Amino acid sequence: MTAPRPSSLAVAATAHEHAWRTESMHLTSEGRVRYVRCTGCAARRIDLDAPVTAPPTPLTRTLG
Ligand SMILES: [Zn+2]
Repeated sequence: MTAPRPSSLAVAATAHEHAWRTESMHLTSEGRVRYVRCTGCAARRIDLDAPVTAPPTPLTRTLG
């Protein structure tokens, strides 16, 4: 009997932590869609930044 070996998929997933760089983006009603690519390998991903729902926070008191 041989010990179970980790699958090649698991090994690839832990090879390195992807460093995502935004290649392009556009706004949709769902938020901002970003097309990202890893700078360390050829992996690509599409991210969605949800629209900001919190109201803006004032940095100063009202002037004038
Ligand atoms: Zn990568």
